[in-house]
Amino acid sequence: MKTSIATVTISGTLTEKLQAIAAAGFDGVEIFENDFLAFDGSPREVGRMVRDAGLQITLFQPFRDFEGMPEPQRSRTFDRAERKFDIMQELGTDLMLVCSNVSPLSLGGIDRAAEDFRDLGDRAAKRGLRVGYEALAWGRHISDHRDAWEIVRRADHPSIGLILDSFHTLARKIDVASIRAIPKDKIFIVQLADAPLIGMDLLHWSRHYRNMPGQGDLPVVDFMRAVAATGYDGPLSLEIFNDQFRGGSPKAIAIDGKRSLVALMDRVRREEPGTRIAVPEIPDRIRSDGVEFIEFAANEHEAAELGTLFRSFGFARAAKHRSKDVTLWRQGEINLLINTEREGFAHSAYLMHGAGVCAVGLRVEDAGATVARARALGAEPFEQAVGPGELKIPAIRGVGGGVMHFIDTKSDLGRLWEIDFEPVKDDTGTADAGLTAIDHVAQTMNYEEMLTWILFYTSIFATHKTPMVDIVDPAGLVRSQVIENADGSLRLTLNGAENHRTLAGRFIAESFGSAVQHLAFSSSDIFKTVAAMKRNGFTPLTISQNYYDDIEARFGLGPDLLDALRAHNILYDRDAEGEYFQLYSPNYGEGFFFEVVQRRKYNGYGAPNAPFRIAAQKRGIRPKDRVEI
Ligand code: MG
Ligand code: MG
Repeated sequence: MKTSIATVTISGTLTEKLQAIAAAGFDGVEIFENDFLAFDGSPREVGRMVRDAGLQITLFQPFRDFEGMPEPQRSRTFDRAERKFDIMQELGTDLMLVCSNVSPLSLGGIDRAAEDFRDLGDRAAKRGLRVGYEALAWGRHISDHRDAWEIVRRADHPSIGLILDSFHTLARKIDVASIRAIPKDKIFIVQLADAPLIGMDLLHWSRHYRNMPGQGDLPVVDFMRAVAATGYDGPLSLEIFNDQFRGGSPKAIAIDGKRSLVALMDRVRREEPGTRIAVPEIPDRIRSDGVEFIEFAANEHEAAELGTLFRSFGFARAAKHRSKDVTLWRQGEINLLINTEREGFAHSAYLMHGAGVCAVGLRVEDAGATVARARALGAEPFEQAVGPGELKIPAIRGVGGGVMHFIDTKSDLGRLWEIDFEPVKDDTGTADAGLTAIDHVAQTMNYEEMLTWILFYTSIFATHKTPMVDIVDPAGLVRSQVIENADGSLRLTLNGAENHRTLAGRFIAESFGSAVQHLAFSSSDIFKTVAAMKRNGFTPLTISQNYYDDIEARFGLGPDLLDALRAHNILYDRDAEGEYFQLYSPNYGEGFFFEVVQRRKYNGYGAPNAPFRIAAQKRGIRPKDRVEI
């Protein structure tokens, strides 16, 4: 599998771009004319730089407004092409991308265009060059790959071929089955991009909102299956125009790009057997049926505070680690660890971020296969020293630097709590509050990083993303997107903060990027749970009384239910399928909090309630820390 990426996709100087692209493991780059015009050096030097970075130039682009021009523009266009051919030869690439003409001067007609390409093909052939024709979704006469193919077919010249671009085909909802009949030798290169489904004009959508395959909503897998069915085995090239990418880290965006291609082709290999593209065989997307544990890093003093807090939720101290300062707190299927080690990963996470979640353990079918897939997708493995007889838990680094451990039941890992831990007796008389499992883990990040996280989770795990929703914080928008598996046993909510004045943004700033901001526990009877928690000393977040007047009117709730909700500060939501109850803790530390939820066939996350919860939390921030709105 030959991978390539257009230089326009990532930010930085040409040198920075090439370094990041090479480091991420790409084979080639598309050189965008502007990238080399801005570079202070000859095309020959650019070509040398690319090759010194271990990359090839897959193509040079774009050559615009070529076909169907009347004279005298037609002759000038051919002169312009000859000058670009000069540059290509100096760069050391043999393929030029011509995109369909958008000029109002251009004339239609398939045969006229075919003739222009036949002439251009003759000129290219003299220099050993090739020309690929791409239908822009907003081309004046040609905006469909089927028409572009007809022109290439009629040009009937060995130096003239077709360039397919998933964005242009999928944005216009053109049937991808039409690709299957194109002879593979006439497809000179395939460009790949995804995009979120948003209603806007095609040009603006394409120039600003494209993203990596798997990050958007377009059926890029179906497109690529159709390409694979032709027998095409040439380069797969990412061509992404995205404002966030152009402002992001070149290294991170390049890694995302490579990850998106590996994940895409893994799907294609499975769904379109017989593809000629040599795709590495890696384990399939990993099924997880939930969170096995959450690990907090803290100092001794904070550990004692966390312990008191856990008790108020009905957790009891269940075990301690055999060789490390790690305590296990348990209720139902929920395992919470507090790590107060003075060395190792948890300690460095503590020094960097302060007290908070430093690691997550996921239950998976096969922990070894999970690490193998994650590594094939560019994730960093994680290892740490273990005591004699203790388990080496397979793990990787998450996007934000946190650690993800994987626990399966097919190996000794299934006996983690017996092997690495020894039970302790908790005789403080804490009453279990009926919390059964972790409903969701909410991670907070800068908005610009959200696509990276989404791709990370959805490419490694058998999960899907739900549409993005906007959460209104009085100080700005927070974008929220959910990653979940089919049966809802694994639910991650990602919150992208656009500024540091929102509660989410403040959390990122205060904890220097620490990611898990809240944990939601499930209860099968939230009213019983809250009563038990209150007996354990828990004080819920106080919700505004106006909220209850509003939901009474909105949902037509009976007086008994409404009184019970109001009495316990429980929030309520309803969708077509069912009902949702939410109870929040106040903020702790830098803005971490807990939530208790009860689902009655409801599948969302109570987004309509978020502004009221955020307002209540902001009222609770100590005056000296209060964020100016
Ligand atoms: Mg393109
Ligand atoms: Mg939540």
